[in-house]
Amino acid sequence: MNTTLQHWLAAQLADLKAQSLYKPLVELQSPQGGRIVVDGRPVINLSSNNYLGLANHPTLKEAAIRATREWGAGAGAVRTIIGTMEVHQRLERRLAEFKHVEATIVFQSGFTANAGTIPTIITKDDAIISDELNHASIIDGCRLTGLPSGQRLVYRHRDMEDLAGVLKRTESFGKRLIITDGVFSMDGDIAPLDEIVRLAAEHDAAVMVDDAHGSGVLGGGRGTAYHYGVHQQIDVQLGTLSKAVGVMGGYIAGSALLRDWLTQRARPFLFSTAHPPAVAAAIIAALDLMETDPSLVERLWTNTRYWQDGLRRSGFDLGVTQTPITPIMTGDEATALDLQRGLFEAGVLALAVVFPTVPRGKARVRTMPNASHTQTDLDEALQAVETVGRHLGLI
Ligand SMILES: *Cc1c(COP(=O)(O)O)cnc(C)c1O
Repeated sequence: MNTTLQHWLAAQLADLKAQSLYKPLVELQSPQGGRIVVDGRPVINLSSNNYLGLANHPTLKEAAIRATREWGAGAGAVRTIIGTMEVHQRLERRLAEFKHVEATIVFQSGFTANAGTIPTIITKDDAIISDELNHASIIDGCRLTGLPSGQRLVYRHRDMEDLAGVLKRTESFGKRLIITDGVFSMDGDIAPLDEIVRLAAEHDAAVMVDDAHGSGVLGGGRGTAYHYGVHQQIDVQLGTLSKAVGVMGGYIAGSALLRDWLTQRARPFLFSTAHPPAVAAAIIAALDLMETDPSLVERLWTNTRYWQDGLRRSGFDLGVTQTPITPIMTGDEATALDLQRGLFEAGVLALAVVFPTVPRGKARVRTMPNASHTQTDLDEALQAVETVGRHLGLI
């Protein structure tokens, strides 16, 4: 092994540890769910993106097993060579129908969908206009365009006046693409897509929404664009199949032309192997379930209201959330870490989010109720948050 590299790695890691930024991996010792086992300890799980409890759903598991028996464990090639199986195509048609759009294309993950799509539809004459709180995978996708910073502009979070100003200043560029998260993952607030679509039309710009936390959650599961009724007007909808949908993958929903272009040029589609057939089949089963059983999404929202009402009644500050993402604001970093630790000791898993993920002084513990929690789970967790929070002087 190369000692220069090994020394560099050791020094980097020591530096992270010295700054308390090193995060050891915790081991999940049970399937994903409302109650899980972590480090030998049963806890109520408020940290997963498994919004609808589908990750360990018997119907999805059965679909995955059946597809594995019929089609095998792997796809064996990239989509553009001989890795496109019938089940992959069926999934894309099913997703288009579910999203009420012309066409979809599935990527290995939401992250890959961003990295694959943004640089494929943007050229050196274009400009990208982003909300300042956009997700890391959008930012990486934008970096891959190689555009100089003068063509990668940022507007203040959800600020439509600022966005209008940026649109006016960028009229000389070729295509302009406004990119925003649908639901912002750290605060749980929703992008004003109705206003964004209106401004975009006025200024001849295209709109892309990364709806990772809106998919399966808003619009009866069809996402933030559907929630606002603007799904026909959003040029590029990105969704994830890894969060509420419970499996793995990302997709782009939009026009048939967009899909067609991405099948020809999106690098992860061309150079990384297709999903195992079990993945595609399990996702189709999840979409069928979401469509035939609206109580799944309803239960998520009932639990969300119950959880947030309980916390607010105790006096906690939940920031600006409009969705199941429920930050318990602590302000300072040490209190967030103490709250996480105290909750774990009380049998509740909820993780602190601190700088650099959120600004300094805006630390929080992020909690996310999901459809698989029972009222008893939530009552127990509320009791724990209240006890630990009171002890820490938060309420
Ligand atoms: C989680 C997330 C992604 C990545 O999705 P994966 O399918 O987990 O790769 C992309 N964008 C946003 C906004 C996310 O929250």
